Amino acid sequence: MRQQKREVTIGGLTIGGNHPIAVQTMLNVPIEDVAGNVAQAKRCAEAGCQILRVTCPAPEDARVVAAIKEAVDIPLVADIHFDYQAALAAVAAGADKIRINPGNIGDDEHVAEVAKACREKNIPIRIGVNGGSLEKHILAKYGAPVPEAMVESALYHVHLLEKHDFSNIVISIKSSNVPRMMAAYRLLSAQTDYPLHVGVTEAGTYQMGLIKSGMGIGGMLLEGIGDTIRVSLADTPEKEVEAGYNILRAVGFPVAGPEVITCPTCGRTQYPCTEIANEVERRLKGCKKSIKVAVMGCVVNGPGEAREADIGIAGGKGEALLFVHGTPVRKLTGDIVGQLMEEIEKL
Ligand code: SF4
Repeated sequence: MRQQKREVTIGGLTIGGNHPIAVQTMLNVPIEDVAGNVAQAKRCAEAGCQILRVTCPAPEDARVVAAIKEAVDIPLVADIHFDYQAALAAVAAGADKIRINPGNIGDDEHVAEVAKACREKNIPIRIGVNGGSLEKHILAKYGAPVPEAMVESALYHVHLLEKHDFSNIVISIKSSNVPRMMAAYRLLSAQTDYPLHVGVTEAGTYQMGLIKSGMGIGGMLLEGIGDTIRVSLADTPEKEVEAGYNILRAVGFPVAGPEVITCPTCGRTQYPCTEIANEVERRLKGCKKSIKVAVMGCVVNGPGEAREADIGIAGGKGEALLFVHGTPVRKLTGDIVGQLMEEIEKL
């Protein structure tokens, strides 16, 4: 059961409530390279990214915010760490959301100015607590970045904004430690109705990042926690977007686009099952049909799975049996991938 949170609108996209969980990523091209950031933003758009984040360390970097807004039609978040002037510049440049921790930008007057600028344009602020950079006074109190300390930090930043009558807020509370991150989100979600952005931070290299994010983000989603997600990978942001959708699929949320199901193969497999599955998945990139395609290794378990899918094949000796909507249709020999793709086109 989804934990209900307030609705918050970022550009043209509303999160929270019963709105679909939005997949986001963050650009990783050096901020001086405006054209490179724009090109990467376009690739993220093609990959289906729904919320895009870009760092904005200094006021002059807001030119990247403006350039991306000009080039792609995705809600854009400017990530600010210490410079409130950079936040104001990003708002002026058209950012749809600001990620900033008000406790990090000095005087309360600075917080007031940022809150005012965001309120005037109806721009939300995401407070992003990271277990690795908690406030000294909170860390001293708890001795370690335990979930309670992370929640206290998040609510401290929230309070700094609420003091200025600002409540257009999203919160994240990430850690690279999966059990700790999950405990922190559970604790926080029980105490707030602001929508939550869920992620495992510094999740690691591609393989470990996928596993940690699958567990942490997927686990939270299964508990009904999370309104937007980001998979952090030491890889391209497009890969993060793809992984985000795959996590949503894995926990059973409807995701537009095709899903390829295949078996791990075993000694019974007598045709190039994995190669065919990979090639089909590659050729389906960009396909908008929400279909399940099963590529199964043999006729033992294969037909069962293939029948569950919209279309599928179960391998024989150098051939495959084609199923469409659960019905065996015919044997495919020769160019199996090509024939399967033709059948998918007809669906
Ligand atoms: S579907 Fe067939 S080939 Fe694939 S793992 Fe199962 S038994 Fe082996």
